[in-house]
Amino acid sequence: MKGRKLLMIPGPIEFEPEVLQAMGIPTQSHVAPDFIETFGNSLELMREVWKSPKGQPFIVAGTGTLAMDMAAANLVEQGDRVLVISTGYFGHRFKDIMDRYGAETTILEAPIGDVVSLEAIEKELQSKQYKALTITHVDTSTGVLVEPKPIAQLAKKYNTLSILDGVCSVAGEEIDQDEWGLDVVLTGSQKAIGVPPGLALLIASQKAMEVWKKRKMPVSNYYADWNNWLPIMKAYEERRPSYFGTPAVNLIVALEASLKIIAAEGVEERVKRHQILAKAFREGVSSLDLEILPERNEIAANTLTAVYYPEGMDGTALLSKVAESDVILAGGLLSEIKTNYFRIGHMGSVSANDLIAVLGALERALSELGHDINSGKSLQAFQNVLLGSN
Ligand code: PMP
Repeated sequence: MKGRKLLMIPGPIEFEPEVLQAMGIPTQSHVAPDFIETFGNSLELMREVWKSPKGQPFIVAGTGTLAMDMAAANLVEQGDRVLVISTGYFGHRFKDIMDRYGAETTILEAPIGDVVSLEAIEKELQSKQYKALTITHVDTSTGVLVEPKPIAQLAKKYNTLSILDGVCSVAGEEIDQDEWGLDVVLTGSQKAIGVPPGLALLIASQKAMEVWKKRKMPVSNYYADWNNWLPIMKAYEERRPSYFGTPAVNLIVALEASLKIIAAEGVEERVKRHQILAKAFREGVSSLDLEILPERNEIAANTLTAVYYPEGMDGTALLSKVAESDVILAGGLLSEIKTNYFRIGHMGSVSANDLIAVLGALERALSELGHDINSGKSLQAFQNVLLGSN
C-alpha cells in the first residue's frame, strides 16, 4: 500500500489487524451476555499475562496514568511515606501523583541512562518505614530497564508495598507478579498489550487488597475508588451483569482479542521475541556509530530504544527525513536532554521486517543529512544477531 506509514513510537504502536477488526464490531450493551463473557475472559487472560493467578485484576476506561492514579488513590493515605525509584520522566510523574494524595514522598533518582543501586534502595528502606515504593519497569523517556524482582524482595523484607509501573513493559518484558511478590502491576492498553489507547489495566495482590480494606480514610478519588470497581470486576468474572461506569465496550472486545493473541504466542515466547529483536536493533544502531542512551546492554529496554543524535545534527530534521520514508519515530522526552535524542518503539506486534525498515530509513536519512554512512551496515549487524540466535 503506497504511503502506508509504520508507527514505531513507544506507544501507541502498530496493532494487529484482528484487534482492530474486533474493535470495529457493532457496539454491544455492556450487560449483553456476549460482552459479559468477553469482559470475564479478559480478566482471566490478564492473570495469565501478568502471571498473577492470585491477583485482583481491574479494567477501567482511562490511560496508563489513571492506572498509576488508581494505585496511589487506593493504597496511599495522607502522611504515608512512599519511596519513588526513578529512572526518568515517569518516575517524576509517580512522585507528583503520590504527592497529590498527601504522601510524604522520597525520590531516589538514577543518573540519566542508569539505574538506582539496590544498596541505595535498601539503605533508604532501612532508614524509615515506607508504606509503598514505586518502580518504573521501563522508563519510556530513557529506555532504561529496571530489574523489579530484587526490589520487590527488598520491599517485602521491609514490609513495604511494591508498585510496578509496567506501562512500557507488560507483555513485552519479563514479569512474574506473584512469584516476585509485586503488589501492583499496572499498564495502559496502547503499548505491548496491543490495544488502541483508552484502557487502564492493573492487577493488585491480595496483600494490596488487604491494605486497601484497612484504610482509615475513604479514597478521595471517586472514579478511581476500588469500592466502586471491585464489585464490577467480581461480577464480570462470575459472568453476572453489573454497572458502575459504562465500560469502554469496543476497547474491551479488542483487549480480549489481543490477550488471546498474546496467550497463543505464549508470554515467554513473546518476551524472548522482544529481547532478540531489541538486541539486534541495538547492534544495528550501534554499527552506525550512534550512541544508545542506557549505559549498558543489561539495562536497555526490550520494548524501545533511546538513541542520541549524532553530534551537531538537527534532530527534528533527522526525524522528518525518516518520516519521508513513512517511518514514524518519536523525539526525546526527558527535559534535561530532550533535543539530544530520539526514541524507537519496538513492542507488541513488532517483527524483524519492521525493524529492518526502520534501520533502512535511518541510514538513508543520516546519509542525506551528510552523515558518513556505509550503506547496509546496520542491516548486516541486525541480521547477524538474528541469524546467530537461531
Ligand atoms: N508510565 C510509563 C512508563 C509510560 O511510558 C507512560 C506513557 N508513555 C505512562 C506511564 C503514562 O501512560 P498514559 O500516557 O497512557 O497515561
